[in-house]
Amino acid sequence: MRTRKPEIRKHDFKEVSIGMTESQAVKEASRCLQCKKPHCVSGCPVEINIPAFIAAIRDKDYPGSLNILRQYNLLPAICGRVCPQEKQCQGSCILGKKGVPISIGALERFAADNGNVDGEPMTKKRSNGQKVAVVGSGPAGLTVAADLARLGYKITIFEALHEAGGVLTYGIPEFRLPKKIIQQEIDYVKSLGVEMRLNWVVGRTQTVEELFEEGYKAIFIGVGAGTPKYMGIPGENLNNVYFASEFLTRVNLMRADQFPKYDTPVKRAKKVAIIGGGNVAMDSARTALRLGAEKVYIVYRRTADEMPSRLEEIDHAKEEGVIMKFLTSPKEILGDDKGKVTGLKCDGMVLCEPDKSGRRRPECSGEEFVLKVDQVIMAIGQSSNPILVKSVKGLGLWGEGYIEVDEDGQSNLPGIFAGGDIATGAATVISAMGAGKRAARAIDVYVKGLKKSAVTG
Ligand SMILES: Cc1cc2nc3c(=O)[nH]c(=O)nc-3n(C[C@H](O)[C@H](O)[C@H](O)COP(=O)(O)OP(=O)(O)OC[C@H]3O[C@@H](n4cnc5c(N)ncnc54)[C@H](O)[C@@H]3O)c2cc1C
Repeated sequence: MRTRKPEIRKHDFKEVSIGMTESQAVKEASRCLQCKKPHCVSGCPVEINIPAFIAAIRDKDYPGSLNILRQYNLLPAICGRVCPQEKQCQGSCILGKKGVPISIGALERFAADNGNVDGEPMTKKRSNGQKVAVVGSGPAGLTVAADLARLGYKITIFEALHEAGGVLTYGIPEFRLPKKIIQQEIDYVKSLGVEMRLNWVVGRTQTVEELFEEGYKAIFIGVGAGTPKYMGIPGENLNNVYFASEFLTRVNLMRADQFPKYDTPVKRAKKVAIIGGGNVAMDSARTALRLGAEKVYIVYRRTADEMPSRLEEIDHAKEEGVIMKFLTSPKEILGDDKGKVTGLKCDGMVLCEPDKSGRRRPECSGEEFVLKVDQVIMAIGQSSNPILVKSVKGLGLWGEGYIEVDEDGQSNLPGIFAGGDIATGAATVISAMGAGKRAARAIDVYVKGLKKSAVTG
């Protein structure tokens, strides 16, 4: 996919990838073998009919292509930009076995950006008069809401923040996922009749019990996993140590990059170390660059091969000058007598045999060194937010407070469903959407069952 020049783009927040031209897209679509048993489809968590949407691009039927995508995927313009395609659909493409797989993600983005479907592409059933509440407006919540609205349910989404979209809005930066794209997708969900109540913290503003009392027949919990994880090393309380979710929220949602035009400040530093190797780490590193940092390090205890981030983000970060410090594990954040960060003390690492996760286990090599930095950003993962889950009596949980559900998203309590990061732990946009789709089907069956039992007795 075409991109803007690194030396220019690293100074602004405009989108990095430009997308395919029409001739590129048609040529790429024509390479697709249209396999009878397409592996790409099994590689996609929502099983999009990939050969069909690609064939429509090949035939220059862009609205048709977008219509096919929308039948499976509510947010194609978003998934085309942020899905880890190399591990999913593209990773399973048969052409990739001996050569270059089809650029399925770029084609999905092309169809979404050029489909221009007027009005509602999916049919919507007549209202059935039943109300369902959705808590959280991330990809899981938006998907369950749209699917149920199409089935005739009256849906209200309750969202804690003042803007909808979940991580898409507050976490992923503008240069990767422009806000106007997210807004288009949210507007589409609203066009299905879904109501959004913002600034509404379920568990505080209103409890789940009170929602049932208001007549909601079922409740879907899609509150994500937004609580930062700590490493527990000395120096984490120094000034200018941020947790990635706070740093990114300040910039993306609260527009701290435009302080004082907007109220929220963020510290701009010259030398920044980001701890972690996932998408969150890459987003933080590239945001720090755009705020004016001269040197930005990614500090990761394994090597490039084990990094969980999307490949494209690693490549783009390197092109922009982010320095990768592999086999490096931080052990202390150093500060001066005013409590400001001055450095990051690290251990060198070596990789040993794989652990239970299948990834090679890092061990100290005995080497110790200090990176001179004036800001440290922790991007080592997020865990569940306890406000809602702890407010629901008897709700079955696992691990660090994630909701236990069956494969349809049903929790141990009748009428309460959950999906996305709050059920799986931090995962991906498309897996949250897949969970939303399955839960929508299960909620429909559940509510129909309630109606039947009310009639019979
Ligand atoms: C910085 C960053 C970059 C990422 N990059 C990628 C990427 O490139 N590709 C990819 O596939 N995945 C990426 N991910 C992961 C992906 O964004 C998540 O897996 C996905 O957003 C999870 O969706 P969700 O709907 O479960 O939750 P979320 O998107 O977290 O949404 C949950 C929503 O619930 C709201 N909420 C929380 N508590 C309450 C409450 N009590 N009442 C009401 N509302 C509440 C929150 O405010 C939030 O809006 C990234 C994550 C981060 C943090």
